Amino acid sequence: MVIREAKTLFDNIVVTRTWNASFGGVYVKEQVGIKPNPYLKNNIMFDEHNKTLIKINPAWMTRQISEISNRKNSYYFKITSLKPLNPENIADKFETKALKYFEQNRDEKYFYNFNEGFDFMGKLKVKESCLNCHREQGYKLNDIRGGIRVSLPLDSYYKEIDIIQERRYIVLIIIIAISFIGYLLLILFMKSHQRYEKHMIEFNQSLEHKVKNRTEELESLNKILKTQAITDSLTGIYNRNMFNTILVTRSEEAKHSNKALSLIMFDIDFFKKINDNYGHQVGDSVLKELTKLILIHIRKDDVFVRWGGEEFMILVNLKLETSLKVAKHLREMVEKYKFSKIDNLTCSFGVAEFKTHQSLDEFISEVDNLLYLAKRKGRNRVES
Ligand code: GH3
Ligand code: MG
Ligand code: MG
Repeated sequence: MVIREAKTLFDNIVVTRTWNASFGGVYVKEQVGIKPNPYLKNNIMFDEHNKTLIKINPAWMTRQISEISNRKNSYYFKITSLKPLNPENIADKFETKALKYFEQNRDEKYFYNFNEGFDFMGKLKVKESCLNCHREQGYKLNDIRGGIRVSLPLDSYYKEIDIIQERRYIVLIIIIAISFIGYLLLILFMKSHQRYEKHMIEFNQSLEHKVKNRTEELESLNKILKTQAITDSLTGIYNRNMFNTILVTRSEEAKHSNKALSLIMFDIDFFKKINDNYGHQVGDSVLKELTKLILIHIRKDDVFVRWGGEEFMILVNLKLETSLKVAKHLREMVEKYKFSKIDNLTCSFGVAEFKTHQSLDEFISEVDNLLYLAKRKGRNRVES
């Protein structure tokens, strides 16, 4: 700002000087305070009333303006030269330095320095208009004839700088405060976000845990249901449903691979009496004990099921003859066995071999009839 102000002042003086030089100097009426320029030839002339007119050339004008200005204004300016015509215009230390600088750096127009105040020097070049009067003094076009010095006090600028600095501090404090608040908000937001994420993770984990438990529960329930669907709850062996399914498979196998397939059906003799004499619970325990007993005496491959009540079926991959032996052996073994809650009991047996032309219903009916026959013939026997 200081440099710009100094340049503006300098440029204004230069314009005024150019205006003056364009007339080859101007004449003013003689009056108090205006003296003719003693270093100028033809420095006065007379008008038609014989009144004195004083010639004001650019240098004399600059000198006078500077004197008025320096009295009135805070800034200071002066026309100066290394070879002044007017000794009052002799260059001081700063001006000498500036003028020498212009001689060494011919393209530079300005020179300035910040000291206690601001010292500025603008270069004055010889222009065409100057030669009108100064040619005979040896002036040449574009010669550096001197300069105009402008000095500005810096107090007012320092005040402005102080105000700007103060405002800058305020702005800085506001920025820091806003940043700090922003930072706090960010931390708060991040913390709450972290809490939310943690909560969500825990929620998800508990949800996963619940789903896992529920799935396991359902799977085990499913297993139980599946088992229940095919198992007799009292004895733990297969029920009639499962028997029907297995019978289909085994009969298909028998048909296609000529495998023997026989059915042993047996029923406890006078079981009603056991219930009547010992109670239903003892009846139940007898059914369980008998099941265990039979299981010990048949092969793994045999399919042993509770057909219903106190009737059982054993599906064996044996011919009739062998199946008959198995049934007889079982009958004997049951007859001899001492049950824990009752003495003993007997069973009646029907045995039949599957014939490929038979339907499964016919096959079951056949063995059922044989069992009925055994009952009719006095029980505790095997019919085939
Ligand atoms: P039979 O020699 O002609 O077979 O005579 P039974 O008494 O064994 O035959 P019946 O069909 O008259 O009676 C069978 C009884 O078996 C009737 C029923 O109360 C009993 N029963 C059927 N299922 C169960 C059961 O799960 N537990 C008990 N305790 N008794 C059963
Ligand atoms: Mg019976
Ligand atoms: Mg019965």
